[in-house]
Amino acid sequence: MGMNRVIIAGGGLAGCLTALALARRRPDMELLVIEQGDRFGGNHTWSFFDTDIEPDARWVLDGIKTHRWPDHDIRFPRRKRRLGIGYSSIRSADLHQMMVASLEPDNYRLGTAISAVEPTQVRLTDGTSLAGDAIIDARGTGQNDALDLGWQKFVGRIYRFARPHGVARPVIMDGTVVQEDGYRFLYYLPFSDTDLLIEDTYYSERPVIDRPRLQAALDQAAGQLDAGKAEVIDEEEGVLPVIMGGDFDRLWPADDGLPRIGVRAGFFHPTTSYSLPDAVANAALIAAQAELHSAPLAGFLRARAKALWRQRAFFRGLNRMLFRAARPEERYKVLEHFYRLPPALIGRFYAGRLGLLDQARVLTGRPPVALGRAISAMLGKK
Ligand SMILES: Cc1cc2nc3c(=O)[nH]c(=O)nc-3n(C[C@H](O)[C@H](O)[C@H](O)COP(=O)(O)OP(=O)(O)OC[C@H]3O[C@@H](n4cnc5c(N)ncnc54)[C@H](O)[C@@H]3O)c2cc1C
Repeated sequence: MGMNRVIIAGGGLAGCLTALALARRRPDMELLVIEQGDRFGGNHTWSFFDTDIEPDARWVLDGIKTHRWPDHDIRFPRRKRRLGIGYSSIRSADLHQMMVASLEPDNYRLGTAISAVEPTQVRLTDGTSLAGDAIIDARGTGQNDALDLGWQKFVGRIYRFARPHGVARPVIMDGTVVQEDGYRFLYYLPFSDTDLLIEDTYYSERPVIDRPRLQAALDQAAGQLDAGKAEVIDEEEGVLPVIMGGDFDRLWPADDGLPRIGVRAGFFHPTTSYSLPDAVANAALIAAQAELHSAPLAGFLRARAKALWRQRAFFRGLNRMLFRAARPEERYKVLEHFYRLPPALIGRFYAGRLGLLDQARVLTGRPPVALGRAISAMLGKK
């Protein structure tokens, strides 16, 4: 009998991490990753907190160049705080590097566009069909019409300054900036003394980005650091879904039969939109599956996605509170209030794993928005 053939459709974050895990742990199968871009991973900086990744899945990231900082800051008008939770980032160029170093050239095809993905075959736009025992759909954002969404949108620029910029650690949220178009904050990530990523981020009802306006705001923030001439060495933008509610069975129908990973399967944090932690966990779990065939794998992944959907209902409620109970200009107060909590609980929030007691603590204290509006938003559509 020949080896099982696993085809991963899409070489972005989730597809690459699963490919790397399979290449490392499953010499019993034949792997093929198909990516339309000429490089793996697009152009992103993916970050995560230490608390996001279970120790037994950490190996999935081994060998990928990672920047790590031991702590991070948050800033609001009435609260500034340093949290001793480590924060790490991976750049897509480094994920690409790891892929080409780890996989044999016949295990991947770059610059290859897919027209259809089915449980037993992938069809390419040039008319070719490729058969596989397990096909994993990792093509990124899919249909969103089953979800009730707000948006986290941002433009980020990496600046190279003439002199040290003086930002020593990540600033995850600087909500002291002028509030407009929803909850707005700046995010700073110092890759070196002179290289700094700054993102201008908005939790907004509208998924549209006014890129020149955000670029100008970023240049202004860079100028305020007083670190001399600032050259833009990279730029990225994102419009990420923030889930307030929806119908999981429409997002991923029970009779679908196709294994899915990444954001198209709902594997991301409903509030932060981070998908790297779920992608790492899924990669480790897929590599440990006894049977690498589409039907059992689809059943396993769908059941897992549905369990996470249920487990994360509280976060969708918080998102409704953020978007629907708080007036846009006072949304920052919801986050300012949240950051009063103990670091361990904040770590569990980042990881999407709040227990019932944690949930009660998040909601206690003097509410930052009118109580009636907060309750009706929390109890709204799940
Ligand atoms: C700029 C940006 C920054 C982000 N920062 C973070 C962060 O800090 N931490 C975090 O956890 N999350 C972050 N996210 C959110 C999320 O983790 C990313 O969007 C992540 O890349 C999603 O992973 P994915 O594998 O599901 O999709 P993607 O990474 O988008 O991968 C999908 C891949 O499939 C390929 N593809 C699609 N259609 C086809 C086709 N027809 N044929 C062939 N190939 C196809 C695409 O080219 C792409 O490479 C960020 C998102 C963006 C946009």
